[in-house]
This record gives sequence, structure tokens and C-alpha cells, in this order.
Amino acid sequence: MDESFSALRASFSSAGGSRVRYADERRRDRDAQGVLWARVSQSLDEHGVLTGAPRWKMINPARQRETMSQLLCQFCREPARTDEGILFLHSTKAGALDPSTSLRTTQPPFCREHARTAPEGCSHLAKHGVALLAQSAPLYGVVGTPYRYTVDRTIQAMAFDGDPVPYGHADLDWMVASQLVRTVRAFTVVNLEDL
Ligand SMILES: [Zn+2]
Repeated sequence: MDESFSALRASFSSAGGSRVRYADERRRDRDAQGVLWARVSQSLDEHGVLTGAPRWKMINPARQRETMSQLLCQFCREPARTDEGILFLHSTKAGALDPSTSLRTTQPPFCREHARTAPEGCSHLAKHGVALLAQSAPLYGVVGTPYRYTVDRTIQAMAFDGDPVPYGHADLDWMVASQLVRTVRAFTVVNLEDL
């Protein structure tokens, strides 16, 4: 049990609600929607953060949250939005893409230059990656670790499937987020060489 995990506590409201919090919680531990975020050390432990689903690259929660929330290139942190849209790289290993639908991603976008060069440093992307140019990518929710308050008043991590939980969902009260999720909408698949 690492330090940040043992520092989780329960807080109870007068209305009968409860939620998980840090013993020494600071303002930046929660996002604008009030969801509690993993501290960096916590992303390195064995409590199930980001297991279960196919993922080609993990970046630490603080950086993922920063670049994803502001739509910055995950490589250089420059703005990723251009007049044509926002570039995401997507692994097709999870299944075929249907451009008539939208998809959810935990992968922050890329600037034009790094969308082109990222696959060179990642064999998975080189093999399975496609570039998506999205017209919009609204916030959806988070991926994180659910916790529960036990009868002996401890906080316990629960098994979870890695599915994103949308903002506004009651489960978020007892979740420690590690990845921000956006919905990639109105996208076209573009050839990386054409960028
Ligand atoms: Zn970049």
C-alpha cells in the first residue's frame, strides 16, 4: 500500500451522501466537475489502473489530464486544434472504425508534426494506428479506479473493467480518476503521409 493510497478517506455529507477524498486534499486534486484524480505515484501501483482494455501507450495521469483537457499535443504540449480539426491517433486493434459513429478515447491529440512522427517511435502504432481528424471532441468522463468504504471503515479498491464513466454519474463519487476521456465526433480517417 503506497502513501497516496493509504491517504484516501471517506467524507460524508449532511444529506447522507458520501465520497472518497484525500486526507490532505488540495484544490488541484479535483477537476472542474469535482472528480478526484490519482496522484502520480498512484498510477504506478498495482491497484488496477488502466488494465483490461487494449492500450498502446500509457502516459501519467497528470500529463494525460493536462493535454487532454486543453487539447494539447501529448508529445510537445502545443495546441493540437487546427482550422481543419483535431488530430487523434487511434489503434484499430480494438476493432474496425465506423466514421458514421463517434468513439471514446483516453489518448490526447497530436499536433500535425507529431501525429506524423509518433508511429515511428511506437511499433504498435506503426502497425495498427490511423489518424483521425475530428471536428469536435467534447469531454465525456474518466477512466479510474472505483473504491468502497468497508464495514471496518477502511477504503478498498474494487475490481473494474476499465470502461469510461461519464461526468455526472453517481459512481464518480467513489472513483479516483486516472485518465480523461473525450468523445471523438465527426471524424474522417486521414493518411499519416498526407499530413
Ligand atoms: Zn506536438
